Amino acid sequence: MIKNTILSLFLVLGSMTLTAQEKDSTKEGRDGTNYKDKPIVTNVTNTIFMLKGMGGNIAVQDGIDGVLMIDTQFERISKFIEDIVERETEKKVEFIINTHHHGDHVGGNKNFSREGATIIAHKNVRNLMTNALIEKEGLALRKKLEEDINAAEKQQKGSGKVEQLKQTIATRMEQQMEKIEMDHEALPAISFDNDLLFHYNDEDIQLIYTPNAHTNGDILVYFPKSNVMHTGDAFVNMLYPFIDAENGGSYTGYLNGLKRIENLANKETKIIPGHGELASISNVQELSRVLELYYTRIKTAFLQNKTEDQVAAMRDFTKIYDDKGYGDGFITTEAFLRSIYKEVEKNEGAYKRRNDAKQKKYEESQKKAGN
Ligand SMILES: [Zn+2]
Repeated sequence: MIKNTILSLFLVLGSMTLTAQEKDSTKEGRDGTNYKDKPIVTNVTNTIFMLKGMGGNIAVQDGIDGVLMIDTQFERISKFIEDIVERETEKKVEFIINTHHHGDHVGGNKNFSREGATIIAHKNVRNLMTNALIEKEGLALRKKLEEDINAAEKQQKGSGKVEQLKQTIATRMEQQMEKIEMDHEALPAISFDNDLLFHYNDEDIQLIYTPNAHTNGDILVYFPKSNVMHTGDAFVNMLYPFIDAENGGSYTGYLNGLKRIENLANKETKIIPGHGELASISNVQELSRVLELYYTRIKTAFLQNKTEDQVAAMRDFTKIYDDKGYGDGFITTEAFLRSIYKEVEKNEGAYKRRNDAKQKKYEESQKKAGN
């Protein structure tokens, strides 16, 4: 009954919503041109450059076949990014590769796909983007709004406020649904399982799946001839990484991903991280050491009955990296310690509970024997 009311209100309010959205997008466009932190272009090789700006690092390859771009940063600065890429290459972008599904890496997809670019990503990226659109923003919102209507109806039976609330809710739902429709243009047109070889600009580009690392859709993009790699957020330079456990990321997967990068790269490999400055293999090795050290220390603390809050306050082993600026990015030292604690709890919790129970049983038997 309520569902039907919402649906019929969608139809009625459809045109009103469109006007509101048009206004919004104009405002967003203006924000884009006022954008302060201008992206910095860094030449990596003769054919590849890096674009460092507001979101994740972008890599652009320009060659005889055309322009390939890795990741697209945010939607609101996308026109600006497009101008820079066209200025540098004098071409339109033909292909886009997404390293994973986060908004600071795929936000500009819609703009570039409207301009004719074909988007490629791992199939989990497409799934995560679709799920995020439909599940999170659509169905979950609908459920919440239906609950709100129910609560309002119970509280204010007969008053005009319920009708008003229903209208507001329907408008918001409609806006959301429209957003979902529009964002279909942002989805990858080509997706793949495991790895993919991509032959472009006289290079056999390897798209390498690194499962359950930063998310469950990460790929490394490796240009063996140029000896350049874009790692997405499977590696961030001199920063604590975000392990997005909700979307399939894990400590073990992240570490495996770093080892994979170390195996592919040599001392000369130029590594474009998801965030941070252009890097080399030694930076990747350092992050591996950070992860292993923190996990070991937190595991010990966990087995000694330290709580998450106690672990989050530990700074003895983090200081050396905190001083280098590892905690100055999106993930603070505290957030990183908490994320590793959760991983330790997940991996070691069952073992600890078994051991604690055994210990308790032993202590009780000793007590009995003593009596
Ligand atoms: Zn990310």
